[in-house]
Amino acid sequence: MREKSFNKVVVHRSALENNFKYIQKTAGPQTPVMAMVKADAYGHGMEDAALAFASAGCTRFGVAELCEAVRLRLSGITGEIYVTIGFDLEDVDSFFTYDLIPVVYSFEAVSALSQKALSLGRNIGVHLKVDTGMSRLGLLPENVGPFLNHISELKGVKVVGVMSHLPASDQPLSGSTETGLKNFGVACSEFDDNVDTICHIANSGAVLNFPDAHCDMVRAGIALYGYDPAGQVGGKHGGRYGDKGGLVPAMSFHSRVLQVKELPAGTGISYGHTFVTEKSTKIAIIPVGYEDGLSRSLSNSGEVLIHGELAPVCGRICMNMCMIDVSTIVGVEAGDEVVLMGVQGQKEISADDIAAKIGTISYEVLCMFGNNNSREYQVG
Ligand SMILES: *Cc1c(COP(=O)(O)O)cnc(C)c1O
Repeated sequence: MREKSFNKVVVHRSALENNFKYIQKTAGPQTPVMAMVKADAYGHGMEDAALAFASAGCTRFGVAELCEAVRLRLSGITGEIYVTIGFDLEDVDSFFTYDLIPVVYSFEAVSALSQKALSLGRNIGVHLKVDTGMSRLGLLPENVGPFLNHISELKGVKVVGVMSHLPASDQPLSGSTETGLKNFGVACSEFDDNVDTICHIANSGAVLNFPDAHCDMVRAGIALYGYDPAGQVGGKHGGRYGDKGGLVPAMSFHSRVLQVKELPAGTGISYGHTFVTEKSTKIAIIPVGYEDGLSRSLSNSGEVLIHGELAPVCGRICMNMCMIDVSTIVGVEAGDEVVLMGVQGQKEISADDIAAKIGTISYEVLCMFGNNNSREYQVG
């Protein structure tokens, strides 16, 4: 197809590579980093992002569902691929066909894997998910011992890893990480005699804030895409807004001006006329709306960059358009570049800036922009 959207998400490959190397350096050379590439790599495109991380030295990848793992394998990724939130028992053969690593938390799943392994004359290693305080997926620590007994008769399957997830590692003072690590220690101690079993619990927050949580492997997501999970408040690893050489946001979102016009004082703008001009106002109409990931909650509060200047959204954001006040910016014309997220001239709008305005986190902003627009990878 030659016809292109007015809007484009650009992913900067060198930022992805930089961030992987930064996280690998933070974890230390002995500790492998699993790149979490679920949710289409947080909106950055799973296959391309995984290739970028691979070229920076990554050999372990994590996704949520089995279908994502198969897609990633078929794209040519050769490293380890972990399926972290379970699978339909009727699909167990895919773990063997595509050489994938299952994360398990039920007897039924281990049993299905065992039967398939026996029928194929193969073995499979699984990672056990333990709930150490997130109250999400996984066995409670006290059930790990009994579970291991229960599955000990099953042939062809071996527990080669134990994993958990931390609920507040981005808030170093919350105390919950220490509790989670203590509970995790109890679960891991079930494997003390088995040197082949690896333990992993660290997400980006723990990689950055809790060296004690690094264990045998870390699993980084948001940091690889250039953001500190703590957001603007407390985030200190950003390359552009923190110490140099840190994390660099990899995604930017670009559009263009469709039309510019001058409206007299007293003119209502967009649905519901929630914005009425106080004086003669020059507005630019841009082809970005909530279907493109620009949350309708940014109505009358969002900002974009035009000619390197911040310009406010006026009125409600429509499905695929919104209006921008460009009265103070000289010479704006149809066709001019608009940056909704990223750098233009000397100024920058980050996913954290947008998230702060609508009460969410960078993760959601990246998914909304990245997964609702065409993407283009750039080397620089
Ligand atoms: C998404 C995910 C991570 C990464 O979390 P970040 O906060 O983005 O670093 C780690 N582990 C699991 C199991 C995940 O699903």
